[in-house]
Amino acid sequence: MPKIRFDAIKETFRRNPLKVKPVSKRTEIFGKNVFNQKAMEHYLDKNAYQAVMQAIEKGQKIDRNIADQIAAGMKNWAINNGATHYTHWFQPLTGATAEKHDSFFELSPDGRILEKFSGSQLVQQEPDASSFPNGGIRNTFEARGYTAWDPSSPAFIYGTTLCIPTVFVSYTGEALDIKTPLLRSLQSLDKAATAVSRYFHRDVHKVIATLGWEQEYFLIDKALYKSRPDLVMTGRTLTGHPPARGQQLDDHYFGSIPERVMAFMRELEIESLKLGIPVKTRHNEVAPNQFELAPVFEEANLSVDHNSLLMDIMTKIARKHNFEVLLHEKPFAGINGSGKHNNWSMMTDTGINLLSPGKTPMKNLEFLVYFINTIKAVNDYEELLRAAIASAGNDHRLGANEAPPAIISVFIGEQLTQVLKELKQVTDGKLSPKEKTDLKLNVVGKIPEILLDNTDRNRTSPFAFTGNRFEFRAVGSSANTGNPMMVLNMIVAKQLRDFKKEVDQMIAQKDLKKDEAIFNVLREYIKQSERILFEGDGYSKEWEKEAKKRGLSNAQTTPDALKVYTTKKAKNIFAETGVLNERELQAKYEVELDQYVMKILIEAGVLADLTMNHIVPAAFRYQQKLAQLINDLQKLESTENGQFSHEALRQLKEVSADIENLTKLVREMRQKVAAIDALDLEDKAQVLAHEIKPIFDKIRKYTDQLEMRVDDEIWPLTKYREILFTR
Ligand code: ADP
Ligand code: MG
Repeated sequence: MPKIRFDAIKETFRRNPLKVKPVSKRTEIFGKNVFNQKAMEHYLDKNAYQAVMQAIEKGQKIDRNIADQIAAGMKNWAINNGATHYTHWFQPLTGATAEKHDSFFELSPDGRILEKFSGSQLVQQEPDASSFPNGGIRNTFEARGYTAWDPSSPAFIYGTTLCIPTVFVSYTGEALDIKTPLLRSLQSLDKAATAVSRYFHRDVHKVIATLGWEQEYFLIDKALYKSRPDLVMTGRTLTGHPPARGQQLDDHYFGSIPERVMAFMRELEIESLKLGIPVKTRHNEVAPNQFELAPVFEEANLSVDHNSLLMDIMTKIARKHNFEVLLHEKPFAGINGSGKHNNWSMMTDTGINLLSPGKTPMKNLEFLVYFINTIKAVNDYEELLRAAIASAGNDHRLGANEAPPAIISVFIGEQLTQVLKELKQVTDGKLSPKEKTDLKLNVVGKIPEILLDNTDRNRTSPFAFTGNRFEFRAVGSSANTGNPMMVLNMIVAKQLRDFKKEVDQMIAQKDLKKDEAIFNVLREYIKQSERILFEGDGYSKEWEKEAKKRGLSNAQTTPDALKVYTTKKAKNIFAETGVLNERELQAKYEVELDQYVMKILIEAGVLADLTMNHIVPAAFRYQQKLAQLINDLQKLESTENGQFSHEALRQLKEVSADIENLTKLVREMRQKVAAIDALDLEDKAQVLAHEIKPIFDKIRKYTDQLEMRVDDEIWPLTKYREILFTR
């Protein structure tokens, strides 16, 4: 591996400020590359246009004839906008995005160019799916997978390719991707939340989930990235001593964003806007070379697609600017990792944010219904939410004193804590007129219209109410947000269904008024959900103990977190809400476990190679240098009678001890890795998580120590200070 030095790389910086249009033009480029309503109106006839709209709004099927017309319109739009190929764009269970490109043009036997893109090509495709993980679904049924158009997320052009967002399912209709269960969860939530909203409105016909994500990432020099095999192979550094200047704020450094980074950000923002991703670039950094990007919130399915698309294009655009984007949750030890905050709420087709308090007691009661039901859902299914954010990368963050802990809890702030306390006192059964008035005026009526209180924020909470939405903060930076959003929608859907049933029953059986019944049910929910509410420091040891007492889960590793998918309780809720059947859930479990196993195995392999091929040989060289030095010094000593060699000898002993300890650990790790071959998937994952991965840290102790001891001239790996402070 060629060694790249800090000074040398500085020289090679290419400053290429982009020639971009001024800010005022941004509204013009927004959605330029999207087959949006405006483009559809232009390219589709009325029937076709209406069919798409019906499909988007009501989930209605599109018949083949109309599909042909839509395909023709879409193709014309795409070709007029420079597309030559089309692809079904989908998100397999690995969480990444996948595509299979086909040309719009074909040569006829007599050499003429034919354009082809029919309704069936729009609606359905058969990717070479054998390479996508499926947890055994396709193997058992010997069915092939196919992709099917999702009209609720508009097609777009990226580069010269028309990308059609699709689901990926087996021929038996089973989910092989992330989007299918997400769409089902949205349907389930729509149905349940709309039914509940009828207590308050007659004109609501649909409820959507809204998602606004905040994406953190590192941006590092491409050449430096390439000089680190661990970054290239695993997305994170497996060794490396934190620099003396880590995160301690250095205003000068953090305040200025170099032109090269600005150029990247500008291009990313413009490309995002063209693709209809409503981003607002942010420049706030926590760690050196760390940045964040956030769009305005959108309907959840679209927002999930936009996040996946963004992660994809930011990598491509970064490379153009000689950068590499790191989406890994913890690329550098000792330096803050990256997460992805998921701001989530529900909104009616009449434009009401269901998690926003309002001016009237009625609106506030409605707010409380959705607010408390969400808390109850999280309380009842905290383990599923934990599983939804589990990944090898995120294991480094959760519980590592920088991201929320692996314990799921809900933060609601002082004001709402007080409101819940008072609601807990509501009389059982019928309410006296005085109590009703009192509730309306002094409890519900006192919820301020705007709860966005910036002083009342708890950054250590994984699931915090932030005024008009919940913010799920424990999601990993590289995660496909479709997964946690699916679980959240699903558990709230199930909860709202139960709520509706209970309230209706109470009205019918106990002769209560609607709002009396609602107060009665909410009171019980508050009592039942108390253990999930936590306002204190989520990073503290005390909380871990307290959470244990409260019976909250605290899964430290991905395999332990994923186990919940095999429980009866999980199978039931997935089935009841129609999100995944038992086989699909099992497949999801296996694929995610398998991903974990593969990742840790790769890390083990890379760490062993890095140690034995890079670090130990360098340490040997230094050892030899020291030995030679000591030899020379000893000759002098014997003539001068001095004691020159003591420091060199001490260093030699230290380096030699490190080498011995390190090589012993690597041998131990390699033996353990070789031995897991015979195990089944679950056992493999367990051994990797609890026996092999802990050795990484032990190895790292010695490699980091050697980095400090060995002559900088000899050290074969680019150091943290070079990677992190070069930009
Ligand atoms: P933070 O303090 O966490 O950085 P910001 O206000 O900067 O908060 O970011 C808030 C995020 O929440 C944005 O992405 C925004 O689009 C999103 N958001 C705001 N309202 C909603 C909502 N009703 N539903 C979903 N997301 C929302
Ligand atoms: Mg946030």
